[in-house]
Amino acid sequence: MTSKQAPTFTPLQGPVTALFLEEAERLRLQFCCEECIFFQPEQGGRCLYNYPNTQHRRAYFEEDHVVGRVLIFCREFEIL
Ligand code: SF4
Repeated sequence: MTSKQAPTFTPLQGPVTALFLEEAERLRLQFCCEECIFFQPEQGGRCLYNYPNTQHRRAYFEEDHVVGRVLIFCREFEIL
C-alpha cells in the first residue's frame, strides 16, 4: 500500500472520526471495555479473556489526536 491509498478496514474496524466521537458522546454509545461484562477493573483493567485491550479502552478515545486512528470494535463485547 502506498501512502496515497486509503486505508482498508475489516468489518469490525473503521476510522475514528470527529463525527463518530460526537455521536458516541451524544448517543452515549457503549462500546469500550469499561462497559463490557468481561472487563476486570480490579485486575488492572485487563480483559477476562486476556485480549489486548488498549485500543478498546475508554482512555484510547479520550486522548488528544485520536481522530484518524483505527476504531476496532471487539467482537466479544457484552454490555453490562
Ligand atoms: S471482551 Fe473485548 S470489550 Fe470486553 S473487556 Fe475484553 S477486550 Fe474489552
